[in-house]
Amino acid sequence: MNANVCIVGGGAAGLMAAISSAQSGTKMIVVDSNSNPGRKLLKTGGGRCNITHSHSVDEFLNACRPYSRFLRHCIYEFSPEAVCDFFRDKDIDLITEANGSVFPVTNRASDVLRVLVDTARRGDVEFVQNCTIDTIEKKDDIFSLRSKSKEITCERVIIATGGKSLSLTGSRGDGYKFASFFGHTINTPRACLVGLIASDNWLQGKLGGVSLRDVEISLKLSNKKHSLRGPMVFTSNGIGGPVVLNVSREIVDELISGDVELSIDILPDFNENLLRQEIINRINSNPKRELASIFTDLLPRSLAIIICQMATQKRNLIANQLDKSSRTKLISLLKKLPITIIKTRGIEEATVTRGGVSIEEIDSKTMQSKIVDSLFFAGEVIDVDGPCGGYNLQIAFSTGMLAGRSATKRN
Ligand SMILES: Cc1cc2nc3c(=O)[nH]c(=O)nc-3n(C[C@H](O)[C@H](O)[C@H](O)COP(=O)(O)OP(=O)(O)OC[C@H]3O[C@@H](n4cnc5c(N)ncnc54)[C@H](O)[C@@H]3O)c2cc1C
Repeated sequence: MNANVCIVGGGAAGLMAAISSAQSGTKMIVVDSNSNPGRKLLKTGGGRCNITHSHSVDEFLNACRPYSRFLRHCIYEFSPEAVCDFFRDKDIDLITEANGSVFPVTNRASDVLRVLVDTARRGDVEFVQNCTIDTIEKKDDIFSLRSKSKEITCERVIIATGGKSLSLTGSRGDGYKFASFFGHTINTPRACLVGLIASDNWLQGKLGGVSLRDVEISLKLSNKKHSLRGPMVFTSNGIGGPVVLNVSREIVDELISGDVELSIDILPDFNENLLRQEIINRINSNPKRELASIFTDLLPRSLAIIICQMATQKRNLIANQLDKSSRTKLISLLKKLPITIIKTRGIEEATVTRGGVSIEEIDSKTMQSKIVDSLFFAGEVIDVDGPCGGYNLQIAFSTGMLAGRSATKRN
């Protein structure tokens, strides 16, 4: 088989790269290991597919620090607004949630995938499925891509093989092998947007599954305080849930050199004075009840029991026996529950991969390799990532669009 451009990987990035050059006269092939493209896309947003975030370009880039500079050009070229227009033009109505996350109104990732695949097919893009590329080589300006049963030759290659998480969807990190063969630096792939494992005894095996609707997690990095707010859940040995995934993004690099201390404000709507008064009022109204039970409408009972025990050093203390110093300790624990994070959960469970092909060696204006002419990269295989909320698909779409346009322009 031969083509002008071969895209390795038919995920969000590869499909958008294919679409960008449809009907341009470029012969384009998309190769994917799976029997159908976009397997990971179907899993996104719990099957609802959070396609982007409704930010201005500058806000979007700011949220994607430390990769903002590299992403600037492609996000301007194909912005969150342009992504929304792209899908609306194809009769996918969208809904923006209060936090800015954008979903198809149908809440079906399969609708998003169908539009991407149909648009590519209409543009005469050829799909080669069930084909895992094992090697990519270049000789005399021609690339040759080999799988067990096929050889594809082409003038340009876009590597869009994704990261390393959820490998059953096909993203096993093969792109790192190809890039490294061509002399690219691969920054160690690691889990990002992932649950965190803590060393604290008080939560080991005791709170798994207990969820909190709204907490504020604070941490200090390079002497700067960061605070993130949202829902969380305790796991058997740590913490998870939406706000924790974003916290993981802040600390994944710090965890390489050691533990990270976090504090959780379990009741962020109360300031300390308000909380003190609330506790006093509740004790006065229920003096003979067990202390932990006076909080039942504010926090889950299992967590209330543990926190009361930590504050008073007693089991089942009666409310009116709470002395002033234990009350101060209780308030402090409710507002700044300390947790020591020792590591993230594994990369297989992660939403995205931190690390990958170094952005120092990719031209951000074209997505072309600075090392090998006519070799391009798109999507999660590149060492870029964004927070939860549609940022990572937008990055895949924008880098894919730019890589596809750049590879096509060469025709
Ligand atoms: C559970 C989950 C939920 C998520 N939800 C969201 C969300 O709602 N919003 C959001 O913005 N982000 C979300 N993400 C992140 C997002 O899915 C990814 O960042 C995005 O899909 C990356 O796209 P990609 O095209 O770079 O890679 P992928 O989607 O991983 O696609 C890579 C493709 O390359 C193919 N491939 C790999 N190696 C080879 C090879 N050697 N030969 C041939 N083909 C190969 C694979 O089969 C795969 O189809 C989620 C991630 C997970 C795991």
